[in-house]
This record gives sequence, structure tokens and C-alpha cells, in this order.
Amino acid sequence: MRAGRALPGGGAEDRGWVDSALCAQTDPEGFFPERGGSTRTARRVCLACEVRVECLEYALENDERFGVWGGLGERERRRLRRASGEAGGLP
Ligand code: SF4
Repeated sequence: MRAGRALPGGGAEDRGWVDSALCAQTDPEGFFPERGGSTRTARRVCLACEVRVECLEYALENDERFGVWGGLGERERRRLRRASGEAGGLP
């Protein structure tokens, strides 16, 4: 059996979402492709993931720079962070 994606460890109450992470059951390479590689498959997995919002919040709060989190890639999260900074922060 192939190991799934490595996600933040448990322990903290706000990381309960990790137990429901769909990507933990899939090929982790799709979430961290080589430069120029496709993230299409990973994003599709995210669309079906019930903890997408929590995952994206975690990535934004912890400044995760690499990979797909909550269905968004690195550039998209950077844009979102910038936009939320201009708007006075994330809600
Ligand atoms: S939203 Fe995507 S990256 Fe986040 S836990 Fe779900 S499947 Fe994984």
C-alpha cells in the first residue's frame, strides 16, 4: 500500500480536520508536483474533500508555500493572501 500525503500532525484541537483529509488516501506526488507539473488531479480530489475550507485556512495561517492545499496552488494562495491583506486580513 502506498503512503498518502503527509499532513500536519494531530494533537492540536484545530487539526481534527486532518482525519478527514481525502488526500491522505491518495498519491501525494500530485499535490507537490515538479516545477511545471500538473495539479489538476490533486485539485479534483480537493473538490470532493469535506475539509477543504479548514485545509485552506490552515495553509494560509501557516504560510504553506508549496503544493496544493484546499484546492488552491501556490500562486493562488499568494494572491488570496495579498488580497486579504489589502482588505484588512482574513475574516
Ligand atoms: S482540501 Fe485537498 S489538500 Fe486539503 S485535505 Fe482535502 S484533499 Fe487534502
